[in-house]
Amino acid sequence: MKDFCIIGSGISGSTIAHTLSKKYSLDVYDKARGAGGRSSNKKFNKNESFDHGVQYISPKSSQFKKFINNLIKKKIVKKWSGRHIFLNKDKKEDKKHIKIIGNKGNNCISKYLLKNINCIFNTELIKITNKDKIWELDFSDGTKKLYKSLILTCPFPQLRKLSKRYIKHSFINKKVEMDANITVMLVTKKTRPNISSYFFSDLILGWAAYENSKKRFKSDYDLWTLQSTYKWANKVIIKNKINKLDNTRILINKFFELTKLKRNKIVHIQNHGWKYSSNSQPLNIKSYWNKSIRLGVCADWFIGPRLESGWLSAKDLSLKIKK
Ligand SMILES: Cc1cc2nc3c(=O)[nH]c(=O)nc-3n(C[C@H](O)[C@H](O)[C@H](O)COP(=O)(O)OP(=O)(O)OC[C@H]3O[C@@H](n4cnc5c(N)ncnc54)[C@H](O)[C@@H]3O)c2cc1C
Repeated sequence: MKDFCIIGSGISGSTIAHTLSKKYSLDVYDKARGAGGRSSNKKFNKNESFDHGVQYISPKSSQFKKFINNLIKKKIVKKWSGRHIFLNKDKKEDKKHIKIIGNKGNNCISKYLLKNINCIFNTELIKITNKDKIWELDFSDGTKKLYKSLILTCPFPQLRKLSKRYIKHSFINKKVEMDANITVMLVTKKTRPNISSYFFSDLILGWAAYENSKKRFKSDYDLWTLQSTYKWANKVIIKNKINKLDNTRILINKFFELTKLKRNKIVHIQNHGWKYSSNSQPLNIKSYWNKSIRLGVCADWFIGPRLESGWLSAKDLSLKIKK
């Protein structure tokens, strides 16, 4: 029986897995097709792709800055330069705000951290049971696995559903509301705008990234990732599956209206609804560890709405486990 089962291959799961793998045997499971969680990268074709979750990383804490600088040296991530247009009259742009992206996609960090770790994808954990201090885990493919310790990194609502009865801390009864986001991946005939991204001051459209400007591929097309505001997405996410076309049209129309870019022929569009995008109300703990039943939780939503929050939460959990 292995020491740890880690659920989730996003930044929290991959960071804790990487740290613990130096001392323990472990497996990582994810219900998605590949690593990265909300920092996933979606392919348009073999080489061209969209960062349809995390757009960029802007490290704040000295610990995380050090980690990212090391990844820059290893060529896992890089600075995203070019013209980042700030169309928000209400907020001032922070010129020191650097933008870091993955060299091949924003899931690069998770992929790098999980390089030598056994990962099982397309497999969802559906039930957890603790019997005599052993974790009995039921997965969506019908398998049952036993582990000595369990770490969960799911978004809060999913975590609560799976593990409420085993968590002996008040945070599990809190109302942690995660905002939604609607993302549209848009491919048009090429105009080659000299732009990297737009930050809007609009009730519906929040952000647009010109994927070609990340210099990962050469393309005959323009690839844009459009992300809605959280406020608008929170209102429309429930019916996004039914209203996909309408919501997509609204975001695309906003994009051309606000940027005044030439409306070239659309070649491909895809809409991705994020039900649980992020939580901007930090909790009073950074991670959770129950030593007696060996159950741990780390995730961005303990600390904040960014990828760095997930990394810090995983680091905090690894210290608790070490004690
Ligand atoms: C649209 C969008 C834009 C964003 N933009 C930015 C940005 O620009 N900068 C930034 O820093 N942050 C951004 N974020 C936030 C950032 O994505 C998150 O903070 C971070 O990725 C969270 O990482 P995590 O590992 O904690 O969670 P996740 O990445 O969500 O990882 C959890 C993983 O667990 C898996 N999982 C869940 N339940 C189960 C189960 N039962 N069985 C198996 N697997 C399961 C999921 O599939 C997922 O892969 C954005 C998020 C979204 C959605």
